[in-house]
Amino acid sequence: MQQIEAYKQEMQVFEAQTAEQAEAFRIKYLGTKGLLKQVMGEMKQVPNEQRKAFGQVLNEFKAFAEDIYQQLKDKTAGTEQASGNQIDLSLPGNDLPVGTRHPLNIVRNQIIQIFRRLGFAVAEGPEIEDDWHNFGAMNLPEDHPARDMQDTFYISKHPDWLLRTHTSSVQARVMENQQPPIRVICPGRVYRNETISARAHCFFHQVEGLYIDENVSFADLKQTLYFFVQELFGQHVKVRFRPSYFPFTEPSAEMDISCQICSGKGCNICKHTGWVEILGSGMVHPKVLENFGIDPNRYTGYAFGMGIERITQLKYQVNDLRLYSQNDIRFLKQFTGAL
Ligand SMILES: [Zn+2]
Repeated sequence: MQQIEAYKQEMQVFEAQTAEQAEAFRIKYLGTKGLLKQVMGEMKQVPNEQRKAFGQVLNEFKAFAEDIYQQLKDKTAGTEQASGNQIDLSLPGNDLPVGTRHPLNIVRNQIIQIFRRLGFAVAEGPEIEDDWHNFGAMNLPEDHPARDMQDTFYISKHPDWLLRTHTSSVQARVMENQQPPIRVICPGRVYRNETISARAHCFFHQVEGLYIDENVSFADLKQTLYFFVQELFGQHVKVRFRPSYFPFTEPSAEMDISCQICSGKGCNICKHTGWVEILGSGMVHPKVLENFGIDPNRYTGYAFGMGIERITQLKYQVNDLRLYSQNDIRFLKQFTGAL
């Protein structure tokens, strides 16, 4: 009984300025391991005849403690914010790290935008193709030597399936489903069975274009591509066409632009010629048109294809293909300003 009186005095002088301190009172005296529980545990040591009286004392003690706790709680209400979690709303927030566009995506988007302004729609197709759409339809029959230049990866359980070697397979799918006029560009990832080095990779990206209508001529092809490189590299750029060979076009030409590094004077990038090759092109081969039931006597068309890595290399002087897929943040961060 004396001890309980002492506890009461201790409680009465308990100081609490904050809600945390009032909570400390509750834990110390009223909590599950608190003093009150402890004193109640001593009940069994009390002789039977005194138990009733002791029980009353305990009840009164409990009410006393709860009353003091209530007073402390009322007194310190609303102090939670002022004490622990002061917020200065005028402080600037933490920056969220924002990524950058990949250089290949930057250049791909630029290419798409230029051709969109000329009325080209974007067409896409599967990266796993069958032999017909990738080779056969493009006038590359099974024994054609040009296939050796485009070795790729085959699906072993389904030997007719392969990873496409060019986005021409998308052109094939467009011609399959649509009659002229056709005016599309096909951006996408393509695959080759190549040893990875600074100049070759087992995958890269292309944008191909296809325009089929009545009276489409090589002059249209030339003017379209000339406009394209002027938009991409600037009005000063010069172009030249060199005769070439592709199975799916006739005649075929490769297009060079004047070297953007040395302005035509000669440097390592242009191998001291002043010119760099950027794309292949030509008039769609009549056999390709026939493969899709398009009458080659009524319709003509042109096609072209370029590597996005190659264009990016010329625009940003990235001379190692491996950098594009290594995900090195020091490389990627250099394109923060380019959109
Ligand atoms: Zn040069």
